[in-house]
Amino acid sequence: MMSVTPIPALSDNYIWLLRQDTSQSVCVVDPGEAAPVIEILERDSLKLDTILITHHHHDHTGGLNELIKRYSPRVIGPANSSIEGIDVAVGEGDEVRVMGRLFEVITTPGHTLDHISYFTPGIPALLFCGDTLFCAGCGRLFEGSPEQMFASLKKITELPEDTLVFAAHEYTQANLTFARAADPDNKDVEYALQECEKARALDRPTLPSTIGRELKINPYLRVSTDSVRQAAGTQGSNDDDLATFTTLREWKNRF
Ligand code: ZN
Ligand code: FE
Repeated sequence: MMSVTPIPALSDNYIWLLRQDTSQSVCVVDPGEAAPVIEILERDSLKLDTILITHHHHDHTGGLNELIKRYSPRVIGPANSSIEGIDVAVGEGDEVRVMGRLFEVITTPGHTLDHISYFTPGIPALLFCGDTLFCAGCGRLFEGSPEQMFASLKKITELPEDTLVFAAHEYTQANLTFARAADPDNKDVEYALQECEKARALDRPTLPSTIGRELKINPYLRVSTDSVRQAAGTQGSNDDDLATFTTLREWKNRF
């Protein structure tokens, strides 16, 4: 059984720590800083075997140099990227074995052009999607087009509904507050926001989510519903699903 635990980093990042049963070898995803990772590794006498990187932003790679210097892990990350220190450069359809499980690489451009996600089937199936899919939200479009992000989200949401979704940021509360405006008829959003507020008051992570849950509460995945379409229509074009998506993403930026 693989356990996945969050290491909170920077202001609202999670560095996910993967551990297979009681093995001392572990993997971390997107180490935006080294110190909190080192602290856990030293505390629990763990060996950093592998680092997975989703994209080049500093809040996902800032700890890389120090962790490489200290532990010499294998570093897996996107091909066609500016990131330094990658040993295994991967792209669409590539498979990598991490902690005894096979991870499939899914290219998910939109937030950045180099963005990739890692999926491992099994019980449970796990998805590490960086800044592409968040709980009730999606990443900002820094480099890619709305078309690219929309296609990336589509690819991800075709994964099994019980797949656990490990996003890289704790943005759930702000996302659900926006979702309430963008999907006003959705009772699941209201309920999810209450649950989220409870968890945050106790300083608990709201992640992982699941694909099935995201399909119910994430407005970017619900652009063909009347509720989201009509709300988007008050802000911009809702001519088709892509236009509605584009309007939502721009609306969120100024929300
Ligand atoms: Zn990012
Ligand atoms: Fe980020």
